[in-house]
Amino acid sequence: MSHFAYQNGELHAEGVPLSRIAAAVGTPVYVYSETALTDAYRRFAGALADAGLDARVCYAMKANSNLAVVRALAACGAGADVVSGGELTRALAAGVDPAEIVFSGVGKTADEMRQAIAAGIGQFNVESIPELDRLSEVAAESSATVNVAVRVNPDVDADTHHKISTGRHHDKFGIEIDRAREVYAHAAALSGITPNAVAVHIGSQLTDLSPFRAAFIRVAALVHDLRADGHEITKLDLGGGLGIEYGHQSPPDPRDYAAIVADTVGDLGCILVFEPGRYLAGPAGVLLTEIIYIKDAETRSFAIVDAAMNDLVRPAMYDAHHEILPVREPGTDDHTHSYDIVGPVCETGDTFATQRDLPALTAGELVVIRDAGAYGAVMASGYNSRPLIAEVLVRGDSYSVVRVRQDIATMLAQESLADWQSE
Ligand SMILES: *Cc1c(COP(=O)(O)O)cnc(C)c1O
Repeated sequence: MSHFAYQNGELHAEGVPLSRIAAAVGTPVYVYSETALTDAYRRFAGALADAGLDARVCYAMKANSNLAVVRALAACGAGADVVSGGELTRALAAGVDPAEIVFSGVGKTADEMRQAIAAGIGQFNVESIPELDRLSEVAAESSATVNVAVRVNPDVDADTHHKISTGRHHDKFGIEIDRAREVYAHAAALSGITPNAVAVHIGSQLTDLSPFRAAFIRVAALVHDLRADGHEITKLDLGGGLGIEYGHQSPPDPRDYAAIVADTVGDLGCILVFEPGRYLAGPAGVLLTEIIYIKDAETRSFAIVDAAMNDLVRPAMYDAHHEILPVREPGTDDHTHSYDIVGPVCETGDTFATQRDLPALTAGELVVIRDAGAYGAVMASGYNSRPLIAEVLVRGDSYSVVRVRQDIATMLAQESLADWQSE
């Protein structure tokens, strides 16, 4: 069930009319449903538990790292998958248990490693031999021993958008699975490192389960080989990647995903770690925006909205499809018109949707761009000197601003003229 639904003729986030949020906070604004977040968490974690798996869910914070979002998931028991020192700081600030934090990413700096070791995080996912060597050096500095998963690249095509596919042999991620045994041998010889886990993540927005199956089968075979080599492998990190509907796709049910996990790696006796991002946060957020103008051109009608590609870059960057809904509930016999929904930025790529059939729209009315809770606010920029927009969290009949709208004065305060220009 969606937590964004029409009630009394207008679209609500849970029990709060979106028009109320627009009036109080302004537009554009991201609106998140806390219940949608926690329901998605329970569906995902519940499916794994029901399949009899010993699973930990570490929310991939890069999908949406707002403190309040992370807190809502941490309160359900989620750990965190972080990819930078900044995300680690956020995870700790949101109250995530450090032992349940996994640090992923191909380019961790020594400073980030120091920060993570000092925080006592549970696991480093390492992606290269130079990174293993660096981590060993940094661990030695503080006489620490850290748990390491080597991220392997199973050479599986996730059949998703090329910019978010990560498990093919030519992608920059992980170590080719055929080289994994020598890499574990190298890791085991290093001080300060316990290579007790294997990690894999093949891509994002997967709508077909077969690439997961193919990858997990290869990982299971690797675990047998590594154990035969004398490594004590106690954990498997199976990454994220479960897709969502975006209004037109048919992604798998978490229960079917859990069944494949159980089938492929369930008998290895490993603790399993999962890193869902999009599945938890995507459907839990909308981008609420106001129509500035309706522009009728010869062949097209454009609805020009006050949100732009700098606020939500997915359509421009990944050709992503997002459903658009008017906040005012359409009547059953309303005629529909075809609209291109576009932002004000001076690029043709600043287009949220093309040729969408919607009820007649008018300037001043509100629409939402759905499924914007993941890879939305976190990827925003200040392009065209458009300040970062506000974020609001809803629970039941309450809402709260969980990030204030940036203003242009704040943007400018971080810049200055060069010393020689201010005479
Ligand atoms: C991006 C990423 C995730 C999350 O992917 P989703 O598709 O949002 O679930 C998990 N693990 C790693 C290593 C990632 O890079």
